[in-house]
Amino acid sequence: MSFTKIGPLTVIPGENGSRVPFSTSLLVKGTHGAALIDCGSGYQVLNEIKNAYSVRSVYLTHYHLDHIWGAYLFKDAELLINPYDVKKLSDPEELTKASGMLNPTDPHNQEKWMKQLFEKPPENWNRPHWQPVMNLVEKWYPYDQELDVFGTKMVMIHAPGHTQGYCCPYFPEHGVLFAGDFDLTSFGPWYNNADSDIDEFIASAQKTLETDARIFITSHQKGVVGRKEYEEKLKQYIGKIEEREEKTRSAIKRGLVPSEIVYEEIFYYRESHHKNPQLMISEIVGIAKHIDRLVKNGEPFEDYFEEFLRYFGLSRENIFYRSGPMGIMAQ
Ligand SMILES: [Zn+2]
Repeated sequence: MSFTKIGPLTVIPGENGSRVPFSTSLLVKGTHGAALIDCGSGYQVLNEIKNAYSVRSVYLTHYHLDHIWGAYLFKDAELLINPYDVKKLSDPEELTKASGMLNPTDPHNQEKWMKQLFEKPPENWNRPHWQPVMNLVEKWYPYDQELDVFGTKMVMIHAPGHTQGYCCPYFPEHGVLFAGDFDLTSFGPWYNNADSDIDEFIASAQKTLETDARIFITSHQKGVVGRKEYEEKLKQYIGKIEEREEKTRSAIKRGLVPSEIVYEEIFYYRESHHKNPQLMISEIVGIAKHIDRLVKNGEPFEDYFEEFLRYFGLSRENIFYRSGPMGIMAQ
């Protein structure tokens, strides 16, 4: 396999075009070791990396499974994540709250489901699974400070929105930004966890442009992109947010009830929901965030928002969840 190299950085594309549940990782090579940024490329390629390099540190950008699931292969390395996400990877309840997956109407079923997801070892270790990565990451890195990664400077730029703790590794000496989940896909921005925030997403997208990066690396599909293309595609990508908001507004104005609005293809195609019922949670959280944003911007949808929550048996904290970061002191 041939990889794109930029100075000490090597781009490691994920399986299946880096589509979820896979993602692109980045290897940072130095004379005294190597570091991996994210860990979701694929079982085979991560094993090859493990055998070929002395990976001594793994920096995870955020807690999403598609970015971290291979971390169990690097147990001997120092594993770090951002200050908001350490607790999520040791506390299933915190993880489910942040994800927005809690279903308060059926606590028994939820407990069963959480056990299955977080405590039962996988049948197939080659595939992404939560259990192997729980209780593995105990350290965190600081945001917005120059870190020395085996001789290469890296700054973890805090870019909340996708998730609260999300960040983009920036390599100022090489003009490279790991834009990650600002992935420029035709699907558009993803802010469908309880700890996601639409306005923060937009502000953080702008922040990625304020760096002097000439090369941007996305976590999914596209991969390596030059500055001009990134700027253009990012505009279209962020434009998706207003499209979705308009769809939400018009659906409510047309009188669609909550059970109907979730099939309006604001996020996912109707067939996708039939194929994968798990996506409905993301659809519900995403639409609730848009309704809330419309209310903030003056639309009279307060009652509709309450009705929407009631219909799905949700409280506000299932849709909006914030946690505190770990202390400033790293390790
Ligand atoms: Zn993500």
